[in-house]
Amino acid sequence: MEHVFTAPGTALPAALEASLTGGMQDFNVTGASCASCVRKIEAALRRVPGVEYAEMNFAQRIVSIDGHVPAKRLIQAIRDAGYDASAIDTGDADGLAEKERADQAHYRQMLRNTWCALGVGVPLMLYGLFGGDMGVHTDTQRLGWLLVGAVTLAVMAFPGRHFYVGAWKSIRNRAANMDTLIAIGTGTAWLYSMVVVLAPDAIPAAARHVYFEATTMILGLVTLGLALESRARGRSSRAIRRLVGLQPRTARVIRDGVESDIPIARVRAGDRLRVRPGERIPVDGVVDEGGGAVDESMLTGEPMPVHKSAGNTVSAGTVNQTGTLVFRATRVGRDTALARIIELVGRAQNAKPPIGRLADRVSAWFVPAVMIIAVVSALAWLNFGPAPVVALAMVSATTVLIIACPCALGLATPMSVMVGVGKAAEHGILIRNGEALQGAAKITTMVLDKTGTITVGKPVVTDVIPATGHDADEIIAWAAGLERGSEHPLASAIADCASDRGIAPAPVSDFNAIAGHGLEGRTDEGVVLLFGNHKLMRDRNVGIDDAMIERAESLAGEARTPMYLAVDGSLAGIIAVADPLREDSVAAINRLARQGIRVVMLTGDNERTAAAVAAAAGIGDFIAGILPEGKADHVADLQRQGEVVGMSGDGINDAPALARADVGFAIGSGTDVAIESADITLMRGSLHGLADAVAISRATMRNIRQNLVGAFIYNTAGIPIAAGVLYPFTGLLLSPVIAGAAMALSSVTVVSNAGRLRFYDPSEH
Ligand code: ADP
Ligand code: MG
Repeated sequence: MEHVFTAPGTALPAALEASLTGGMQDFNVTGASCASCVRKIEAALRRVPGVEYAEMNFAQRIVSIDGHVPAKRLIQAIRDAGYDASAIDTGDADGLAEKERADQAHYRQMLRNTWCALGVGVPLMLYGLFGGDMGVHTDTQRLGWLLVGAVTLAVMAFPGRHFYVGAWKSIRNRAANMDTLIAIGTGTAWLYSMVVVLAPDAIPAAARHVYFEATTMILGLVTLGLALESRARGRSSRAIRRLVGLQPRTARVIRDGVESDIPIARVRAGDRLRVRPGERIPVDGVVDEGGGAVDESMLTGEPMPVHKSAGNTVSAGTVNQTGTLVFRATRVGRDTALARIIELVGRAQNAKPPIGRLADRVSAWFVPAVMIIAVVSALAWLNFGPAPVVALAMVSATTVLIIACPCALGLATPMSVMVGVGKAAEHGILIRNGEALQGAAKITTMVLDKTGTITVGKPVVTDVIPATGHDADEIIAWAAGLERGSEHPLASAIADCASDRGIAPAPVSDFNAIAGHGLEGRTDEGVVLLFGNHKLMRDRNVGIDDAMIERAESLAGEARTPMYLAVDGSLAGIIAVADPLREDSVAAINRLARQGIRVVMLTGDNERTAAAVAAAAGIGDFIAGILPEGKADHVADLQRQGEVVGMSGDGINDAPALARADVGFAIGSGTDVAIESADITLMRGSLHGLADAVAISRATMRNIRQNLVGAFIYNTAGIPIAAGVLYPFTGLLLSPVIAGAAMALSSVTVVSNAGRLRFYDPSEH
């Protein structure tokens, strides 16, 4: 029997442990101004020997690298590619606070740069708009424009500096990015104007016109776009900061009978800690003394407080509402559930769904393509355009360069992923990676395990029916003795029943679990016991008389699970258990149906019981009597029929099916987030989490598509207009200033559209 979940308080499965802590390192990247940088940085890092994985999130400017390579080496690789980087700890409050401070300072700097550039650009533009002469005909005009040209150069050298530095670096690396486009665009406008001023004779009289306002306005507007984008980015990473903020900074330890407040970092596993009413629980642990209602909603999304008393586990970050708790720390520091959730969410926010990788590939090709288009367009104007040929050629090339900058394209995916994954975390849904996010949106069939998923998973004994010649206490003692050898939920039902009735389990040895059927064993006296379902009895040729079969069938019809006990090969009795539905299963299954998802129940239980449970839960399709290893095959069958299958299980022997499904959901119990084969973990033990996860991922993917389509249409539609294809028909030629404004606006639009997701309420879908 395989288990997906580790029991509360045990360590994480090795695979997950490795994926979380292995060689993962995060770096804050600076100087990456456009999406085309993403692929370059990733490629540079992947070339470093030992790096297994490198993925950059453009929205957060964070690159996550897997592989045992020293940080220095990685930073050097990023520097060699023309950027800068510093290591950060994304799961740490101080690390995040530092990044936030740096981002804030960067934002203010960009705003100052914006006002500086616009301070020069706006007056110039207004002068031109209100009929001022932008031409160069007299010596006075030459002198005046020379001064303006010098001021413009100062704007380029100071507020606009990073564009030129970035462009220079990228050219040295024989690559091109947004900086290249802006630098060439604005540089061309300035150079042209300076030639007009300094050597007017080189330019035909009709084309002696200056474009200093274009250079300064573009620099100002693009910087404004970057500033607004960076502020919105900060707002969107709130989810993770909220989680980090849940971590208390001190804890009250009891050592040698003395209580003292110590910094959280000094708490050790095994320490006894006191938490008073209203305080946050500092680390994970098990309650020793006292009790109270604990609000775990911040981790699980489950609004009802949970009562905790001696023996119960408590989690860091949850709030003790009433009563005083004394508990023993079991997991501290990076091992607490909270720390692991933060790490998982941070990692997922940085992850890229497949659609995002496509966008990165497109934008990497975009920039060189645009440069070629700009040159072609300039040549076309020079050869076929109306007078003043040189000026119009320059304007069209500049406008093409500016309008085609694929900035919004690069932001489209990561912005939405960041907001969507954060939103999911708020609802107690942990999405592991980009594939899971994109996959969940496409699910057409949701396969649900019966026991522990649709039902509570805590069956209780309802009926004990001895066969003639046996009595109830005797068969309970045998069954209870036998079930000590099993970890099945049914085993604890039998054990509880025996202890409630004060019956001592019979001593049993030689256990043998028969997966999906039941189990066998031998008593001290050498009596052979066999306990399990009807199939098991048939396989072992245990005769069951008609009266007993009838009793069993009628129990099954009431959604109870009958189990048969055979003693030395003949039937001794039937024990039936009932496992109640989770109280909100019906409502949640209805929601899935309304989302257009076909719900299929899988169970190893018998047909009759399965039918009764399915009917009670409102599920039309069910497959009963399947062996544990058969679940994965049924998932594969559905996939062959063309369904995109989501599978959710409580974990007991569902691991292969969870792994096989397109998206595997693990339904956690409370804050015990231990996951191995699951793509998505629902921390709240409710099927509503499935409907929420589907709704959120659909909304996120829809948001990404809106962003991508918008950005792509804008970029591609803007190019021909900027190149002047409309000119022969309407006389329309965009000014470079408009292109700069449009470009800034497109980034801001994408960022705000992603921001809308923050107000999305999955429960309405
Ligand atoms: P599921 O996980 O869908 O509940 P399983 O494959 O674990 O189903 O088990 C299928 C059936 O086998 C159970 O419904 C029960 O009748 C029988 N069975 C399995 N394990 C045990 C056990 N330990 N004791 C009694 N019956 C068992
Ligand atoms: Mg099961």
